Formats: sequence, structure tokens, C-alpha cells
Amino acid sequence: MTNCSKCANAKAETRVLAEFDASGLLGTPFVVLIHDAVKEKFCSGCEGIIGHVIPSPDNLVAVVAILRACNPIKLNGAEIRFFRKSVGLKAKEIAERLDLTPEQFSRYENGKKPISDVYEKLLRAEVCLHHLESVKKIDVDIRGLLAMNIVSVRDVAKPITLRLIQVTIDDDDNKTKWRNEAA
Ligand SMILES: [Zn+2]
Repeated sequence: MTNCSKCANAKAETRVLAEFDASGLLGTPFVVLIHDAVKEKFCSGCEGIIGHVIPSPDNLVAVVAILRACNPIKLNGAEIRFFRKSVGLKAKEIAERLDLTPEQFSRYENGKKPISDVYEKLLRAEVCLHHLESVKKIDVDIRGLLAMNIVSVRDVAKPITLRLIQVTIDDDDNKTKWRNEAA
């Protein structure tokens, strides 16, 4: 049991949060709200927050990456970086798969130049195919993704917010499954 650093005698208690903004912990450049799944440890003495526990965080990153890849709003540099980190590849490695030079890819990732729609769709497909190996129970239409019409950020009224709800499914792996709730 972890005790509070401010009042050593107080007990750590746990509550499940109705809503938790996981953007900071996941490193997403858009908002990810998790409902009724994140446990918050807090001190019963001073109410100080000790920490948060997200169930199956790796699986969550994969789900979030897939959901963003299926959302047609144009990717910005920070999102391209999030995608690359989510698949654990270096800029050079992912550039090779997209048939780009590392310099071209870095310009997109650093936001110096917008990625062209064709490369953006290839990147989305690559990210989905990678994560679909670990995330089951999500259907992604790769053909549809490659035919997607990318939507300009200028035409979007609200910033991207993903809302995730934990789903209990009985199967062999013990990973948490997530369902996307339309924002
Ligand atoms: Zn305390």
C-alpha cells in the first residue's frame, strides 16, 4: 500500500473516476476521455491524489491510434508523431514503409509541411494494420480507409475528443477491451 507523502499516517484509498482525461498520460495531441475505468488513488487524510491506474494501457494506446486513424480529419504533425510512437518505429523505419525519405517524414512530423493525403492514408493504414494484431474486436475497413476523403481542419467545428468505455468480454487474453462512444 502506498501512503501519502504529506501525511504519513493517512491511508491510501481508491475510487473509480466517472471521467478521466487520459491525454497527458497517453501523450495524445487530442482529448481522450475514459469513462468509469480509471482508478484514482487518493489520501483519506488530506484528499491529495497519489496516482492513477489505467487498465491495459498498451491496449488503450492501440485502440486510440486506430480510432484516430479512422477519423477523417486531417492529421497534424503531433498526431503523426503519436502514430509513429504508438507503433514503436523510428522516423527512418516508418519513412521506409511509406516510401518516403526520413527527411520528408520528419518535415511532416515536425509540422513544417502538411502531409499529402496519399501518404496520410498509407500511414493510417499502416498504423491500423500494426495495431490490429494486438487489438481484436475492432473492425477496420482498410480499403475504406485508403479511399477516405480527408477532411480539412478548417471544416471541423469541434476539436477531436474520443470517449472510451471499458467493455467486459470473456476471452483468452486478459486485456481490457474498449468501446468508442460518439462524442
Ligand atoms: Zn495525505
